[in-house]
Amino acid sequence: DGDSYGVLPRPCRALVLLNPQSGTGRALEDFQAVVQPMLAEADIATTVFITERPHHAHEKVRDEDLSQWDTLVVMAGDGLLYEVVNGLMERPDWEETMKKPLCILPGGSGNALAASINHYAGNDHVTKKKLLTNCTFILCKGLHTQMDLVSLSTASGKRLFSFLGFGWGFISDVDIDSEKYRWLGNARFTLGTLQCLAKLRVYQGRLSYLPAVPEQGSPPAPRDPHAPVTNGQAGRILPPAGTEAPGALPADSLLVPLCQPVPAHWTVVPEEEFVSVYAIYQSHLGTNLLMAPAAQLHDGCIHLFYLKAGISRVALLKIFLAMARGTHLDLNCPHLRYVPVRAFRLEPRAATGIMTVDGEVLACEPVQGQIHSRLCRVLSG
Ligand code: ADP
Ligand code: MG
Repeated sequence: DGDSYGVLPRPCRALVLLNPQSGTGRALEDFQAVVQPMLAEADIATTVFITERPHHAHEKVRDEDLSQWDTLVVMAGDGLLYEVVNGLMERPDWEETMKKPLCILPGGSGNALAASINHYAGNDHVTKKKLLTNCTFILCKGLHTQMDLVSLSTASGKRLFSFLGFGWGFISDVDIDSEKYRWLGNARFTLGTLQCLAKLRVYQGRLSYLPAVPEQGSPPAPRDPHAPVTNGQAGRILPPAGTEAPGALPADSLLVPLCQPVPAHWTVVPEEEFVSVYAIYQSHLGTNLLMAPAAQLHDGCIHLFYLKAGISRVALLKIFLAMARGTHLDLNCPHLRYVPVRAFRLEPRAATGIMTVDGEVLACEPVQGQIHSRLCRVLSG
């Protein structure tokens, strides 16, 4: 796929969206001290937009003329990039605008995409200022490529686009409960994990998925190109692919409405009690959590992990410690399952447990999602 890579022009004009409250609150300081001098050397001119509140970046990229920028840079945590992606997808010209390369510079406490890109680029595992320097260097080099996004649809009719992961239960609890320790930086996740281990809970629901590789004994997938598809808005049927109105969002061709059972060629997990479900599409869940070592920017895969109820606290802690090196699957823990999928559905039995998308809270309700290959572009080294 020779045309999947591109390079930023020189001189280059970058719009930098910066959250001054991200992480330990030093994003602006670090940007001025570390990033700006490097970008000046590389002939990249910056305009800095400092966000004043949640949703500010979303509105900015949704509503404004972006033609004067060659790249949109996010200097914050994953949460701000999530706003940017969803703001861009709300534009009538999203298809054109999503060709504009995005860049993440780690300025938050959750910098999973930055850690993943650093990993894909073949760099050593680093954190903090070193990770920021590596990511700034990737921007200076200017090489960009395509990235998959996952389209999520909820029972209440929300349609969201996610670049990192969707979670429910333990892992999402840690993410959100630990936000009060944001001042600790990345260490907030270690403290949060220990606290959540103490009050370990079980969540009930049904998990189904479309395996990326057909599983043994599963019926063959149907091959009807004219099968009806939905856009995730409570069962609305869209015309077959290729006939959508201009500006319409990409159709979720693998999904049926949430009010219908999943297609027969999907797998339904027999167990209905979980400690956590996590669908990740990047290698890292956090700077020190290598959850899906096999993941790539555009592998067309959702890496689905679930932890079945009955796991002991010690076994759970071992899994989290092993995840620092990405060796958690080598433990062969019978409660931990991993399967690469193209789509999944999660139907919680009650509205209990925190759901997260790219580290941001989502109301707990039935949700399904599917991969959309190469929907955006990122600076990737
Ligand atoms: P972190 O990794 O520390 O969570 P993020 O960049 O992900 O940092 O930001 C967390 C949240 O802060 C996002 O949901 C974003 O909308 C919100 N936000 C953005 N700008 C501001 C601001 N000026 N004040 C408070 N919150 C903000
Ligand atoms: Mg965040």
